[in-house]
Amino acid sequence: MTNPSLLILAGDGIGPEVMAEVRKIIDWFGANRGLSFDVSEDLVGGAAYDAHGTPLTDATMEKAQEVDAVLLGAVGGPKYDVLDFAVKPERGLLRLRKEMDLYSNLRPAQCFDALADFSSLKKDIVAGLDIMIVRELTSGVYFGEPRGVFKEGNERVGVNTQRYTESEIARVARSAFELAKRRNNKLCSMEKANVMESGILWRDVVQEVHDAEYPDVELSHMYADAGAMQLVRAPKQFDVIVTDNLFGDLLSDAAAMLTGSLGMLPSASLGAPMANDRPKALYEPVHGSAPDIAGQGKANPCACILSFAMALRYSFDKGDEADRLEAAVNKVLADGVRTADLMQAENAVPATTSEMGDAVLAALDASL
Ligand code: NAD
Repeated sequence: MTNPSLLILAGDGIGPEVMAEVRKIIDWFGANRGLSFDVSEDLVGGAAYDAHGTPLTDATMEKAQEVDAVLLGAVGGPKYDVLDFAVKPERGLLRLRKEMDLYSNLRPAQCFDALADFSSLKKDIVAGLDIMIVRELTSGVYFGEPRGVFKEGNERVGVNTQRYTESEIARVARSAFELAKRRNNKLCSMEKANVMESGILWRDVVQEVHDAEYPDVELSHMYADAGAMQLVRAPKQFDVIVTDNLFGDLLSDAAAMLTGSLGMLPSASLGAPMANDRPKALYEPVHGSAPDIAGQGKANPCACILSFAMALRYSFDKGDEADRLEAAVNKVLADGVRTADLMQAENAVPATTSEMGDAVLAALDASL
């Protein structure tokens, strides 16, 4: 039996700093849980541009297609703002998502008990929150044709096209139903079927997939604007939400803020199953390269660590080990170990990035 393979693309800014902590955790699972990975590392974003003049080389792209999962840190930084659009760091990430065809973007909004005070909502509304937003990532209005700014008579007109095929809707719906089955068996699909034809098709196809393949999952439909209201009014009513690219972009960011800090938010982007039945997969924190704190040991590594927990759960079917890692993070927070982004008292001393990683390791040790 060969070990499952991981490609680490740490990227720019705080990417390498938070990924260094994930490396320690990966090693811990190898040493203590008999869960070893073949880990390779490569460059993406500005770091790849500096070395090769491109934010993602063909060789790295090929590796990403071959491994069981990709772990990405973050890309970008002010140094690269002047670059041509085609070689900007973000293009490396977009190429990965596009060529791996990662159509299902999973964004959990989970409120760790110790951080309930960080939410902009009342504590009792968010305490214990654990929902998952599934956003369609490779189609919809960000990709539909025609698009552009055109001349029409005496003025310009900006055009984007919301376009979804049945198969694009069905595959992301399946991904969401599968997730719901692993969780509390509830899925809410959001669109604007009241005013958009693509929304009518979305609703029809999600219902058809449900009736034919997942009749036991409790399915509801909601208009996305009403869904946005419900998310901030009573978010705990949801389990899994599935929605299109545009609404998912907005709703997942809103839901993320229910839980407090950007430094705590993981994500997964999944594609079609590979020959070994594992989905194509890329795991990354939601945050960017945070140039304002890069190189200072201030970055919170939890978002990246929790992204690895998602990899354990969704790529390697190790839900129990993912639970262990999430519980370790929860314990560290409850014990009061915090990086600066999670501090409230002004005179408290924040933990550094590596102290936070070490505290998670200690909590993992204690879990044995
Ligand atoms: P950002 O997420 O990098 O930072 C926003 C704010 O949150 C900053 O104040 C930062 O210090 C803080 N922050 C972010 N992550 C943190 C962490 N782990 N711990 C503690 N504090 C944290 O967003 P930005 O400032 O808008 O963008 C910076 C760069 O990152 C830009 O070049 C942008 O294009 C890029 N970016 C990349 C990604 C990605 O790689 N997926 C996502 C967003 C932004």
